Amino acid sequence: MDFSNIPCQKHKGQDCCLFCKACNYLVCATCVSTKHNGHKMGEIKEFYEMKMNNVRKQQTEVKINERRLKEDDFTLEKIYKSTSENYDTAKRDILAQKTALTIAVAKYADKLLSDLDQDRQSIIKTYDEGKENIQKFKLDLNKLSTELEDISSTTEAATFFKEIENLTLDKTELTAIKLPDHRVTQFASGEIMQSNFGSLRKIMKISKSEIILETSKEFQTELRTINCVALMHHKG
Ligand SMILES: [Zn+2]
Ligand SMILES: [Zn+2]
Repeated sequence: MDFSNIPCQKHKGQDCCLFCKACNYLVCATCVSTKHNGHKMGEIKEFYEMKMNNVRKQQTEVKINERRLKEDDFTLEKIYKSTSENYDTAKRDILAQKTALTIAVAKYADKLLSDLDQDRQSIIKTYDEGKENIQKFKLDLNKLSTELEDISSTTEAATFFKEIENLTLDKTELTAIKLPDHRVTQFASGEIMQSNFGSLRKIMKISKSEIILETSKEFQTELRTINCVALMHHKG
């Protein structure tokens, strides 16, 4: 690069020949002898290289930031996609559970109703049997009562003893009717617990850092096939 024809910003017609290290500024011969008199000077080339180094450093910084930004963008996309998928899955699972439990609840209610009906049938049967026994007992008692009436009104001893022999019921059979236990069936309502249905949980997903391959340089080769590309760290 040619540093010989850089016009001085302060003095017309003059080219810069040095740079002032104190002021960090390009200077011409007039500058050196006036404003920058006694200041430490350096070669323009040296100044250029210093500035150029800064440019390269900033370029590297920009590249690093671009890459980081790209990775962040990629990660953000991935998180969004994953959360969307999870939302869909969770929604589907909740609806499936809703259906399953609705069916199960209906089935369980039907079973309770069936049990209750069976219980009722059994009570009706016991009641009917009891009624029948009472009726039968009543008839027996009426018959016995009539027979006893007859016996007590008999005036002949022979008839009396004969009729005593033929009494319908023996006294031992006159025992009380056995009533069923007074037992009732009630429904004790419960409630749906979270543990029966399930709940929403928030879990932390640690996203694995992924390696992104991108083309930074292209090469041509005479080789027909390439089996392996080695990764090398190098500067610059
Ligand atoms: Zn000057
Ligand atoms: Zn100066």
